[in-house]
Amino acid sequence: MSIQNNRLSKEVLAEKFSDVHPPFEHTEGAMIEADRCINCYDAPCTKSCPTSIDVPLFIKQISSGNIRGSAKTIFSSNIMGAGCSKVCPVEKLCEGACVYNLLEEEPISIAKLQRYSTEKAIQGKWKLFERKSSNGKKVAVVGAGPAGLACAHALSLQGVDVTIFEKEEKGGGLMTYGVAAYKVTPDFCKDEVDYILSIGGIDVQYKKELGKDITLVDLQKNYDSVFLGIGVGIARSLDIPGENLDGVVDAISFIYDLRTNDYSKIAVGDNVAVIGMGMTAIDAATQSKRLGAKEVTMIYRRTENEKPCTDVELDLAKLDGCSFIWLASPKEIIGENGKVKKLVCNKMKLAEPDASGRRAPVDTGETFTIDVDMVIKAAGQIPFEELVNKSSVENKSGKILINKKSETNLKGVFAGGDSVNGGKEVVDAVQAGKDGAKWILEYLGL
Ligand SMILES: Cc1cc2nc3c(=O)[nH]c(=O)nc-3n(C[C@H](O)[C@H](O)[C@H](O)COP(=O)(O)OP(=O)(O)OC[C@H]3O[C@@H](n4cnc5c(N)ncnc54)[C@H](O)[C@@H]3O)c2cc1C
Ligand code: SF4
Repeated sequence: MSIQNNRLSKEVLAEKFSDVHPPFEHTEGAMIEADRCINCYDAPCTKSCPTSIDVPLFIKQISSGNIRGSAKTIFSSNIMGAGCSKVCPVEKLCEGACVYNLLEEEPISIAKLQRYSTEKAIQGKWKLFERKSSNGKKVAVVGAGPAGLACAHALSLQGVDVTIFEKEEKGGGLMTYGVAAYKVTPDFCKDEVDYILSIGGIDVQYKKELGKDITLVDLQKNYDSVFLGIGVGIARSLDIPGENLDGVVDAISFIYDLRTNDYSKIAVGDNVAVIGMGMTAIDAATQSKRLGAKEVTMIYRRTENEKPCTDVELDLAKLDGCSFIWLASPKEIIGENGKVKKLVCNKMKLAEPDASGRRAPVDTGETFTIDVDMVIKAAGQIPFEELVNKSSVENKSGKILINKKSETNLKGVFAGGDSVNGGKEVVDAVQAGKDGAKWILEYLGL
């Protein structure tokens, strides 16, 4: 059957896209969980958080009923602490490091507790930070994603006047346009961005694109410093025949459509193949299934041991009924009347480990074919190479190069987040934004 709009009712779709990690239903639940924390000295949970949130402190504040203080502790380290409580892969960060794992007991539900206090702060519009009065310095931030917003907030707090230039019509970056809808809703993303901006001193100019509406030279001329938080945006192509057939989409565009439209308007196939096994691939696969696809097959060229997603994410795809073909690489997409019909894959095997211990996938020469009516490409993203080259920013294949002080080769131009690291997680981008702000303040002599 060819690709079609989905056939589930709005009610069923709403249910399928509801919160994957629901919050505590009652205050008592949060209190009981908070009381389990033994407030470790030199807490491993804090050490494993890229933004170094003082986890034992905020949990203790919840225990003692100081929810406001708890939210302030979290936001002081991570202004997107509410979003991170919903999207962070905590199993490999704070919760994965919790000492309870050593006792073979359930780790403290750090993310759920973090959500408990930060959501209250956002819902109640608690004013937890006071901006210093303006010092006359002006900084331009390009990109209203986690890196740009964290940088802007930290600068504004110190009295810097910030202008954010954002090419989309909403802030939040991939948090708003990329992360799976069952982790964060569009309404939540809007509330979080509004909360961050409520500090004042930050003017966001939406629908203003660097390289189109503005140039880096203009920004350097008109501002005391610039922070680039433009992320990575372009999906990597597969470079195989048939990639242009109707029904072949890239995961980023597919998810972008899903995040910006009514779910019932999103076309999904009956038999969907998803190429890749990273977080984006998992999100594309699980959301295809939730949209009503009958079969979703994830295809990865290595084995389960080398998968880039976490076990928790893989389990999510398994629970959603996705199937997996390991050691397979797409070779050709075959169409009929311009539409996707079949996917031909090479069978792969793993070579002997190289010096770094990594085992490269090697083509065995054998192939197999599966029937599909939609192929979603999730083989990674490529940085905006053309844009950064045009702006004379030193880069490696589009990834912006910065020194230890977050500064690029251009004096006064700083950068951070996915545009520098090539694509990690929200929490890393927030830390990069904080770092950028710290070095910009030093550069401005503040
Ligand atoms: C499908 C998908 C799912 C993900 N799921 C998770 C998850 O569950 N958990 C997690 O922690 N991380 C997840 N991530 C990764 C996470 O979203 C990113 O690491 C994080 O958003 C990076 O933040 P950033 O600010 O560096 O970039 P972005 O979030 O990409 O923000 C960059 C901003 O810059 C804007 N911009 C770009 N170019 C220009 C320009 N020329 N002019 C003006 N503005 C511009 C963009 O519109 C965007 O708003 C996911 C990523 C994807 C793609
Ligand atoms: S490691 Fe676990 S028990 Fe220890 S402080 Fe962190 S959350 Fe609490």
